[in-house]
Amino acid sequence: MNQTELTYFDYAATTPLCPEALTAMTQALTQFGNPSSQYAYARQAAQAVRSHRESVAQALGCAAGQVYFTSCGTEGDNWAIRRGVELGRRRGRHIVTTAIEHAAVLETCRDLERRGYEVTYLSPDRAGRISSGQLCSAIRPDTILVSMMLVNNETGVVLPVAECVQAVKAANPAILFHCDAVQGLLKLPDPPVATGADLITVSAHKVGGPKGVGALYIKAGLRLPPLLTGGGQEGGLRSGTEATAQLAGFAAACDAARADPDRLERTAAIKAYTLDRLRQAIPRLEVVSPGDAPHICTVTLPGYPGEVLVRALGDQGVCLSSGSACHRGKPSHVFAAMGLPRPWLSGVLRLSFSPDTTKAQADRLAQALGQLSQTILPALP
Ligand code: PLP
Repeated sequence: MNQTELTYFDYAATTPLCPEALTAMTQALTQFGNPSSQYAYARQAAQAVRSHRESVAQALGCAAGQVYFTSCGTEGDNWAIRRGVELGRRRGRHIVTTAIEHAAVLETCRDLERRGYEVTYLSPDRAGRISSGQLCSAIRPDTILVSMMLVNNETGVVLPVAECVQAVKAANPAILFHCDAVQGLLKLPDPPVATGADLITVSAHKVGGPKGVGALYIKAGLRLPPLLTGGGQEGGLRSGTEATAQLAGFAAACDAARADPDRLERTAAIKAYTLDRLRQAIPRLEVVSPGDAPHICTVTLPGYPGEVLVRALGDQGVCLSSGSACHRGKPSHVFAAMGLPRPWLSGVLRLSFSPDTTKAQADRLAQALGQLSQTILPALP
């Protein structure tokens, strides 16, 4: 099955490479110079990396000197949290995060628990929301780091990160605030750095860039130790020869998105249309989360086996997810934390959109899911 035969509703899992990124990467792949080498040919590569950093900085809303390239969002989350807690080691060993973070944050926190840190996981309400009041009540004198995502990857709920940063800093300015903005970059009216967080993780493959490249924003003046040591690239903070083609693709994708100012409105409009079509085609369908971010929402067919629906739709070229792509068949920790009843949990489907998703694709999804809901029977009463 090739890309043109797909009806794709899984943009939160990954996005296709946008044409601008493909062109930029193809050019960069033929310019093979190592940006650290001293001769003119390589200096062109170093100059290109500087320009890519500028593009990603504009998408993040910060100065280029605050952007450190990484190999992915997972690396950014690991770096921020593992090295962030080291900065506060003398003051305490308590971390606060949410029960609905991506595995890149949750598994890192669990690993730190095994190494003697204490972690408080804030539970969401039934709508998937977490309040700044909840966060404030969890802060203790020995709290050293908070990690809170900007947009949940399964519900599309936008967490009140800016308000939480203010509240946490008012309680204790020494507490580091990390924000996983992998699903928030270029998906909200304000850039992630406007939240005021100290450390912000982003990833290219959610915004039309290639897989295998991301960035960590580090607030000016913050001396975060490196996670990867070696040749001293990225100002000595993230060693490893720059992945020049990946960086070119990331930058081009950021520039292309910023050059399309009504992309958020188009994405929200096609999501609303799709939800209407699904409700018409499948009266028993329930909306679990309409999603504040324009590109994600979640529905459920109560009692239906979501995994079976996803596989059957996939066989027809209709791609969506029964939760995050990282779950591999396990029930979603996010919907479980929201306290969804068992029949709702089993039939959860996450839909995610791009500005270019069409009404014809939405109609095709509604028709295919409508048919399946008549042939596949609910597994639970
Ligand atoms: N954080 C969130 C919220 C995500 O959705 C993802 C990817 O799904 C990641 C982190 C991990 O990013 P990457 O795939 O670049 O490692």
